[in-house]
Amino acid sequence: MLHFKGMEDLSSIKQELERTKSELAILYEISNAMRTTLKLDEILYIILTGVTAHMGLGFNRAMLFLVNDKENIVEGKMAIGPETGDEANRVWKYVEQEKMDMDDLINAYKVSRHMEESGFNRQVQRFKISLEEQKDNLFSLVGLEGMPLHLTRETIQNYNHDPIIKMLKAEELVIVPLKAKDKVNGIIVADNFITKKPISKDDLRMLIMLANQAGLAIENSQLYEKTVIRAHLDSLTELWNHGYFQYLLGVELERARAVSNPLSLIMVDIDDFKLYNDTLGHQQGDRILKEIAILLKNQSRKMDYVCRYGGEEFAIILPYTDKKEAYHIAERFRENVLKQTFFKKEEFAGKTLSVSLGLATFPENGASPAELIAYADKALYEAKQKGKNQTCG
Ligand code: GH3
Ligand code: MG
Ligand code: MG
Repeated sequence: MLHFKGMEDLSSIKQELERTKSELAILYEISNAMRTTLKLDEILYIILTGVTAHMGLGFNRAMLFLVNDKENIVEGKMAIGPETGDEANRVWKYVEQEKMDMDDLINAYKVSRHMEESGFNRQVQRFKISLEEQKDNLFSLVGLEGMPLHLTRETIQNYNHDPIIKMLKAEELVIVPLKAKDKVNGIIVADNFITKKPISKDDLRMLIMLANQAGLAIENSQLYEKTVIRAHLDSLTELWNHGYFQYLLGVELERARAVSNPLSLIMVDIDDFKLYNDTLGHQQGDRILKEIAILLKNQSRKMDYVCRYGGEEFAIILPYTDKKEAYHIAERFRENVLKQTFFKKEEFAGKTLSVSLGLATFPENGASPAELIAYADKALYEAKQKGKNQTCG
């Protein structure tokens, strides 16, 4: 027969066991969900759903920031959470009524992309902060030390001026680093903005466990995305390669057709390239190709796709662009090539490197990728026939 005190211990141990069991089940479900995709935005959504869902960790709001090593900053990527109590009630009621589980929530995201409309999400996506050592903001602290922080109602007072506290207007929150191989690659912030429920030690412990998995899942997905991108790049020029050009043209043409917008294609061929190759050697020829690739990339707009069609020919896809505008852009390319020096004057007395360009525009010059390419090719041939260093089409 156990002593009364012992009975009490036993029941609290039992309770503890039950809780650990359900916590493990939640973490198991979230980490399984993370394994179903390698797409970064889906991974981020799964993580944040895990942090905020009722059957997950149950925080009111959660946001995810990623470390950008190149610029040494932390930038907001995604946020889930209602902006007002009304919105919270509406969403939580809906989730309950529809008996949505984690899978349903995740599938709803993949289908509707409703996140793009969330004001809170957009606000977080605009957030950027430097990670420099001397900057004594909360993110630098968590990012550099790799330690989680729990700011209680009392301690948060000391950080009233911190950018993240100012943005969130939080009264209590947790900031947890995401790690892959001991390196911090992201940060999760979570709070109970609506219900004001105090954040317990258990809440924080669960979040830290989730964060450990999340950091690895994010790194995997980033490596995967890099590999996919690399497979579509031309190794010499780092422009999109021929195969990806064909794919992009197909996709963009369909889009242009769907919304009844024009689309233009510019084909570029270097004039007398064989001459430069024969005189300077292939290595110098390669260098010129790289320099032209950089010029085309720099001179094009963000929405354009600059591709290496093959050899010394380039193709640029210009979405939402009519013939007149495409002509203008093509002429700017041509003039900038003329202005740039690609070799020493004494190597080619009096010779300036130039390009010829051919244009095609959807819908007037063709309805399929093949028709557009053929039209632009013909225009390029015409430019060569007329004496090179010009734009036709
Ligand atoms: P045109 O003005 O009529 O275009 O004359 P062209 O000499 O430029 O003729 P063409 O366009 O047929 O030139 C193709 C040349 O481009 C031949 C080939 O040696 C060179 N070339 C193709 N790919 C590469 C490459 O990757 N590196 C180097 N260095 N040269 C290349
Ligand atoms: Mg050629
Ligand atoms: Mg050529």
